[in-house]
Amino acid sequence: MSAEIINGLEVAGQLRADMKKQVTELKAEGLTPHLTVILIGEDPASQSYVSGKEKAASETGISSEVIRMDETTSENELLQLIEELNETSHVHGILVQLPLPNHIDEQKVIEAIDPRKDVDGFHPINVGKMMLGQETFLPCTPHGILKLLQSKDIDLKGKHAVIIGRSNIVGKPMGQLLLNENATVTYCHSRTKDLKAMTQLADILIVAVGREHFIDGSYIKKGAAVIDVGVNRTKEGTLTGDVDFDSAKEVASFITPVPRGVGPMTITMLLANTIEAAKRLENRE
Ligand code: NAP
Repeated sequence: MSAEIINGLEVAGQLRADMKKQVTELKAEGLTPHLTVILIGEDPASQSYVSGKEKAASETGISSEVIRMDETTSENELLQLIEELNETSHVHGILVQLPLPNHIDEQKVIEAIDPRKDVDGFHPINVGKMMLGQETFLPCTPHGILKLLQSKDIDLKGKHAVIIGRSNIVGKPMGQLLLNENATVTYCHSRTKDLKAMTQLADILIVAVGREHFIDGSYIKKGAAVIDVGVNRTKEGTLTGDVDFDSAKEVASFITPVPRGVGPMTITMLLANTIEAAKRLENRE
């Protein structure tokens, strides 16, 4: 058995083509969705993520700007900038690239963003709405994963989804979104006893740990759908996931590769949230 590959680049491309049409229509009506990204410091991974977002926005017709600030920027300076952007009417989406330098309180920054412009979906108001199943900005990575599963018509209802990882940006919201789709959800993390016994029960296995090839085929139930969220840089400088693709694909029925899996979907859902923010703020829904 060799799993069907879920090509994130392809799914993202289809969604982005639809978004491009939508943006063209909005522009014709005088509304240009605008995303402002704040990047603090020189972290190479963050710089690369931000360039990816800028490029994708521009290809979709969304206007974007990156405000680059020095590593030594104070928390107050950043909070002041966010306050100004909250009040700037042409800015529909605000994203502060994480992680932030240690002297800045990440949660305080997230909470400073107007929830109506919180296109990352990290503000407690938006997290709460997601928990309640209300319409809101969904966090981009888990939302993108849901779209990937749906792109293959993978039935989630009553299925056992096991998530390895419980971060606020991936694991926790992923579980909530799957629960909203009527899956039965198990969370695993670094304190989980007998991880393999858990993962072997998964119809849908989401791996978001951040360790190269952490999960191989022996952890996977035959016929499971496996989503690899991990992005790890190998010694050779290439990108690889948390799942050992070669052994996993022999057991799974569906699998995402790294790269070209979850990554392109994260950016795509950010663009979707920016368009949605523009429409909501300008009453064009
Ligand atoms: P994170 O905040 O570091 O969380 C990692 C999670 O893995 C934690 O919940 C941790 O458990 C758990 N874990 C660590 N060791 C474990 C073990 N031995 N057994 C079971 N669980 C273990 O990471 P994250 O931000 O969620 O990101 C995870 C990965 O996804 C990273 O590689 C990141 O680069 C990637 N990522 C990719 C995208 C994308 O768009 N493709 C987006 C976001 C993140 P504890 O909570 O107990 O510590």
